[in-house]
Amino acid sequence: MFGIGVLKGLSVTMKHWITTYIDDVRKIPSRYAGGREILRQPLDEEGLFTIQYPEEKRLIPERFRFIPMLLFDPETGKERCTACGICAKVCPPQCIWIVRDKDEKGKPLTRPAEFYIDISICMGCGFCAEFCPFDSIKMNHDFELAVYDRYPKLILDKQDLMVPLDYYAALYPEQYAAEEAARAAKEKAKAARAARRGARGGAGARGAGRRAAQDGGEQGGTDATNQ
Ligand code: SF4
Ligand code: SF4
Repeated sequence: MFGIGVLKGLSVTMKHWITTYIDDVRKIPSRYAGGREILRQPLDEEGLFTIQYPEEKRLIPERFRFIPMLLFDPETGKERCTACGICAKVCPPQCIWIVRDKDEKGKPLTRPAEFYIDISICMGCGFCAEFCPFDSIKMNHDFELAVYDRYPKLILDKQDLMVPLDYYAALYPEQYAAEEAARAAKEKAKAARAARRGARGGAGARGAGRRAAQDGGEQGGTDATNQ
């Protein structure tokens, strides 16, 4: 019948509107009792959901990405980046600059002396993090980066970009666990290959020793016969 669809649509709106008040009643005396907090709208939440930003913030899903960050090991203070430059090559808007570090003789080192990202150009595509072979650049969740002056505040240097590994582990618990498991499996396979090579080398050396001993005996026998 004419108008039924409109009524159905309005009933959905009305249901969400009523559920909003039911949610508030559940949280009596106030949803703000105990202070404002980081909120996350559950998937089964039906009420209208207003976040009073910036006092309240929404929890961000693990795969959210904004701008990149560089990881360093908090125990050693050493960055993971080797200054290979792959991230700079794959970056579509070309907003990464890297200067490789050198020793006192001018020999290039596997670490960046300088690392800049112009985040006013970065489009958050995540290619740099996808292609980095050393898991040293990842996408940060921090989106509150508004400033009044575009330059130089939106050009982040190495110091601005560096975060400890545990910060990354807290932002990306599942991804971090999967990467660490893959790394451990790779190390195990490498150790097993080395052990097999060692065993083959030992067997080869023993075989060579036996052959040398046999050759020596035969030679000695021949010499004795010739005398
Ligand atoms: S962040 Fe990764 S891809 Fe970029 S230079 Fe460093 S190691 Fe290479
Ligand atoms: S996220 Fe994309 S645009 Fe931003 S620095 Fe990485 S590759 Fe470049």
